[in-house]
Amino acid sequence: MATTDRQATTLALAHALSAAERGLAVLPLSRTKLPALRSPHRDDPAPALCHGECGRFGHGVHDASTDPSRIRALFAAAPWATGYGIACGLPPHHLIGVDLDTKPDTDSPAALRELALRHLFTIPPTVVVITPGGGRHIWLTGPPDAVVPNSAGRLAPGIDIRGAGGYLVGPGSRTRHGTYTTAPGTAHLTPASSGPPAAPTRTASARPS
Ligand SMILES: [Zn+2]
Repeated sequence: MATTDRQATTLALAHALSAAERGLAVLPLSRTKLPALRSPHRDDPAPALCHGECGRFGHGVHDASTDPSRIRALFAAAPWATGYGIACGLPPHHLIGVDLDTKPDTDSPAALRELALRHLFTIPPTVVVITPGGGRHIWLTGPPDAVVPNSAGRLAPGIDIRGAGGYLVGPGSRTRHGTYTTAPGTAHLTPASSGPPAAPTRTASARPS
């Protein structure tokens, strides 16, 4: 078991480093999909509003980095990590995750198709991650000039959005419920933006409101 865990950690680190090479900031996750490193401020009487300025690890998504030596240090500090998270909303990709749930009474892929039709956007060829429960994470890039927040079920039942301040469990991560994998044929893709291919730039439009 201990050996298996160490292999899972080595594998998670390798996947995390390769994601970082593609410009995605990563942090180690435990089997529960939560950040593997606990807050250094957890015993403080008054919770500090620290996002890592103290220089220590354990600030959740704020730990995320694309720097290989920092990533190695994060994983060395969390040898129980079996997965990694990818921070959303950061340059250069401004990653947004569309999280399609698989509850028996919701057809979230159909709901997304309907949304796309109604709002005239398209889902481009992009990275799709399959969760152990059979859900899908569609990776999109967001606009650099707007903050897309996290939301749950606001667009449609079964569709959550992972945006600024959130993270996505990276493919190759092992969790209590199983391993996250990329959908066939999407691993080599880069996150793409949704929407009509030749949309006019928003700053140039002068529509009456
Ligand atoms: Zn701190």
